[in-house]
Amino acid sequence: MLGFAWVCISVVVVAFGRIEVRASAPIGRRTRRLRRLLWLSLLMKVAVGAWWYPLGAPLASLALLLGVGLTLIEFGLIFYWLYPIERTERELPATAREYLIARLGMVWDALAPIAAFGLGALTLDYLWSGESRAAGAWGALTVSAMGLGALLSGLSISRRATPFPARCLPVRAHFLEEAQRLGRELGVTVREIVVLDGTRLRRADAFALSGGRIALTDYLLASLTEQQILAVIAHEVAHLAQRKRLVRLWLLTLAGGVGGAVVVAPFAHQLPPWGLLVWLGLIAFALMLPMQRLRRRHEREADAFAVSQYGVEALQGALRVIATLHQREPDHSSDAVHPSLTQRLQALQKFTR
Ligand SMILES: [Zn+2]
Repeated sequence: MLGFAWVCISVVVVAFGRIEVRASAPIGRRTRRLRRLLWLSLLMKVAVGAWWYPLGAPLASLALLLGVGLTLIEFGLIFYWLYPIERTERELPATAREYLIARLGMVWDALAPIAAFGLGALTLDYLWSGESRAAGAWGALTVSAMGLGALLSGLSISRRATPFPARCLPVRAHFLEEAQRLGRELGVTVREIVVLDGTRLRRADAFALSGGRIALTDYLLASLTEQQILAVIAHEVAHLAQRKRLVRLWLLTLAGGVGGAVVVAPFAHQLPPWGLLVWLGLIAFALMLPMQRLRRRHEREADAFAVSQYGVEALQGALRVIATLHQREPDHSSDAVHPSLTQRLQALQKFTR
């Protein structure tokens, strides 16, 4: 029955997605709305899923995997429809397969924490309740599979190699030397600048990766001036230096979440579905809010650092070019962490005074 309810939700989501894909709007607005649709789809599934509680940990894990699978199918279909439109409008050289892998990778980024956290909590619940021991060999097998699923989803968050395929392009030595100098200034080691293939998907992006690496897409390198590229590098070096603080807060909130779950676990089975839903919502909110706030602050600090090194114009110019290339709307932020272009340019303007 739960499966049937979720399939109904999927049909509705796909129908809305189809309308959104066909709307005549810039790609930036359409992808922003599709992101909202993704969260709506997840919220509806959680709300309906809580109604079937208590389901028992192994069945609940299966349900969780089903939900993740359905969401990937929904957005796989929607992006399959969006591909020919975006290919024409933005002149993408990417094949449908490359496009879908990149787009679904972003959907998986939203799903992975839910899968990791959900499977982890269910595994612990199954172990602590003693039900896994009571089920004998079958229980041991189930609990290992659930634990492995939680571990793999968790690893995919922290160990993702690069968001786009890497290219064997040497970046100019001058950029790496500058990045290393900036790193020394902030007390962080910059080991490498990786060039990613952004041309096929027309992505001008930069990332701070694990292991002291910074990634820039070739499309970004080709679209910005040297000063603008340096400003972007400075922004990412600042993110590398902020990583320790972020990991510390992440561990702290995780410990808080586990602590909260342990306190409520003995009563969880007596809670009505809505009680559980409220409780899950509170945990998710309490875990996400401090992280979100810190990451927003980090964005402002990284911008300030880039300005301190290369001036306001370089970063402002880079942000304008990137927003135009991605057809982003200036007054809407493209994700939950970065402010909109207008807000960001205004904040930078303060430095000129
Ligand atoms: Zn940033």
